[in-house]
Amino acid sequence: MLVAAIFGPGQGGLVEVPDPQPKDDIVVVKVHAAPMCTEFKAFREGHVTQTLGHEAAGEVVAVDKATQVRVGDRVVVQPQHPCGKCALCEGGNYIHCEHNRDVLAETGSAAGTATYAQYVLKSERLLTPIPDGMSYDHAAMACCGLGPTFGAMQLMAVDAFDTVLITGLGPVGLGGVIGARYRGARVIGVDGHPYRAALARDLGAAAVINPQDPDAVRQVLDLTGGLGADKSIETSGTAPAKPFLMDATRRKGHIAFVGWEGQVDAGQIVLKGLTIHGAWHYNLYDAGRLLRIIADSGAQLDRLITHRFPLSQVQEAWELQLTGNCGKVVLHPWA
Ligand SMILES: [Zn+2]
Ligand SMILES: [Zn+2]
Repeated sequence: MLVAAIFGPGQGGLVEVPDPQPKDDIVVVKVHAAPMCTEFKAFREGHVTQTLGHEAAGEVVAVDKATQVRVGDRVVVQPQHPCGKCALCEGGNYIHCEHNRDVLAETGSAAGTATYAQYVLKSERLLTPIPDGMSYDHAAMACCGLGPTFGAMQLMAVDAFDTVLITGLGPVGLGGVIGARYRGARVIGVDGHPYRAALARDLGAAAVINPQDPDAVRQVLDLTGGLGADKSIETSGTAPAKPFLMDATRRKGHIAFVGWEGQVDAGQIVLKGLTIHGAWHYNLYDAGRLLRIIADSGAQLDRLITHRFPLSQVQEAWELQLTGNCGKVVLHPWA
């Protein structure tokens, strides 16, 4: 099969590797849609690898002892390879599992853990059925497109009474605008890129603030009666966004961190009575709710997905992402 690779800084392309093989509960999924996330950072910096991508929707094409899926099933491919046996896995919070499996060793495959690829290996437990009539591109938004922000909003119980502040309007944050508007919340976005700001407004953000503005926190306070946002989600993956949200979220408010970088001030958490959440992904038992949002939001998703490329044009796709002039970009490995 063909998989995407990085050969050096700004140099990407395809390489041929052996097809993966199913074993026990691990099945082979033919990837039809692979949304692009933050791999462009590795492309920019030249991290040489043939294992790229963690988001996909596709079709089950080979099984061994799997009983929950069959060849031909259309599925969302969930990230990681958790054990499936620990309390976290049993409770649906598998993303935090401490015992990730080595599925290449288990199946004797040379490749098959990346989604910028024609096939990917996955335990049947991590395959979410796609409802009839939903496209692969839309279903694949149940990965990072809408997923981490959906998980954050589940943790914070976002509803129509909330103003939700979202820092970073890229491949993760933009979907948060759709998810928050679906719940009836008001959205304030934070991103300095004009293309992303315009797209966020188009998706329903009431206002978008440039974090480079020296009075950016004051602008949030002015939009929220001087209090600050009720609930905030950090998706920019930048360190300065953390103290910004600590300042721009109201007392007794909630903040969910999706982006990993940066530090927070414990004193400010205590002073303001903030509740802080780590929101890497979402509880697997909530997947049906997320797919319902996706089913109801087709027109929004078609604005969110601004570009599609065949996998053979991964170089061009990454170069586009580096400009920032895009929403979610989807690769098609069989186009
Ligand atoms: Zn586990
Ligand atoms: Zn992602």
